[in-house]
Amino acid sequence: MKLHAITLGCQMSAADGSETLARLRERGWAAAESPEDADAIFLTTCSVRDHAEQRALSLIGRLREWKAKDPKRFLVVAGCVAERLGQRLAKRFPHVDLVLGSKKAGSYADLVAEAFAVRNSESPKAIRNPAGGDSVVQSLTIMRGCSCACSYCIVPSVRGPELCRPADEILAEARARLAGGARELILLGQRVNAWRDGDRDLAGLLRELDSLPGLARLRFMSPHPALCDERLFAALAGCRTACEWLHLPVQSGSDRLLGLMGRGYTRGQFLDTARRLRAAVRGVVVSTDIIVGFPSETEAEFAETLGLVSELRPATAFCFKYSGREGTPAAELADDVPAAVKEARLAAVNAVVDRHTAQALQEAVGSMVEVLAETPTFGRTRTGFKARWKSPVAAGRLAPLRVTAATRRTLLGDIHEPHDP
Ligand code: SF4
Repeated sequence: MKLHAITLGCQMSAADGSETLARLRERGWAAAESPEDADAIFLTTCSVRDHAEQRALSLIGRLREWKAKDPKRFLVVAGCVAERLGQRLAKRFPHVDLVLGSKKAGSYADLVAEAFAVRNSESPKAIRNPAGGDSVVQSLTIMRGCSCACSYCIVPSVRGPELCRPADEILAEARARLAGGARELILLGQRVNAWRDGDRDLAGLLRELDSLPGLARLRFMSPHPALCDERLFAALAGCRTACEWLHLPVQSGSDRLLGLMGRGYTRGQFLDTARRLRAAVRGVVVSTDIIVGFPSETEAEFAETLGLVSELRPATAFCFKYSGREGTPAAELADDVPAAVKEARLAAVNAVVDRHTAQALQEAVGSMVEVLAETPTFGRTRTGFKARWKSPVAAGRLAPLRVTAATRRTLLGDIHEPHDP
């Protein structure tokens, strides 16, 4: 059985897709390079934004043709769109064989294998091309769902309340990933710093993972700003593998809007968190998320967001126009910021972010930075910047890079001898 995995959406979706593929490979399945080469497609969908959901629906529609070429082909739609629309999805697209909502993410592989066996009444054949869990940088989901109630967010209703994986299971999976060639692990959770296992917290988990042989780098995302504390910052500063990079999603610079969004912090508290982080972790680089055009956002409130971005100086930011998601509390509010105004605000905030990105990249020119080679000529710095060079380095090696120039998003430079075995 050859399975082609397609992911639309966030890193959680991508991790669900690759974890499912890895588990199916243990049962003898293999990855297909393309849909044409595949007996089955596993599509992980995202409904956090309306645009993402529309892309998923359009792709599912187009896969009708793929399925029609061989009715034995097997199409699975998983993830948040599957959770939100459930059997409505199966009704609208009868060529879909299996709909698996995101609340079942922990059992995707078992459910796919069972449904396939029932339909075909034959065991899957082992074939070629290992994929999914083989890259140097791998995501490791440590918790699912979210127990927050941000008013614009559909995650709590499509993924359910927070469910933390036990620490010992996470450590065992991390060891297996490292034995399989991973060098960097990215711990994933919707509110990753809410992770707990008894009296173990994320800071403690970072320290336990830090001592694993073979681990070169450790990141985690996304922490909730209101739960960031000195204990977490100390772990970031003290762990050999913890990278000097933190994604701190702020969403807005206006206290009134942060209240309407239900974010649980004020502008002042957020900026204070960023200040304490920078004081605790030398050279840390921050990225963020911004929503523009939230219902009732005024020009003055948007200006507060621009001001916050200037004060925060994120190296990158994911900025979005608000779009109401059915089933969220914010969808009850009038979506009253005109589309053209949202567009203009998005362009304005992106322009400010771009200036900070350019400045951060330019500041690195002339310095030596450590890169982890993800391919022979591409990798990332500890601070999360993409980097390219010419002399090939084996994937998985840490190497010093002399930065000679920067493009809009990437550092360019020359590699010196790899400095780890
Ligand atoms: S913290 Fe808020 S935005 Fe993040 S997943 Fe939970 S509800 Fe959504």
